[in-house]
Amino acid sequence: MRVVVDLNSCQGYAQCCFLAPETFKLAGEEALMYHPGPNNEHSEKVLRAAASCPVQAIFVEETNHQNDEQKENKEVGKHHD
Ligand code: SF4
Repeated sequence: MRVVVDLNSCQGYAQCCFLAPETFKLAGEEALMYHPGPNNEHSEKVLRAAASCPVQAIFVEETNHQNDEQKENKEVGKHHD
């Protein structure tokens, strides 16, 4: 599956980090880091995290590509400069 977080909308509430800690992490106080291609075994948690985000900043796309599962953890952006 693919995950995209709109970091402009994200307010760093960390809801997602509690619900799917394998995929979402807060680095420092407000910088959210996330795994853009989490393992399918985490998909339920990721979907729950997306549903619970207070500002609906998490977008999830189901994919069947196995390659997604092998992607490395990436820091894709910071919440604030
Ligand atoms: S993506 Fe949503 S739930 Fe996750 S830290 Fe940002 S605002 Fe909070």
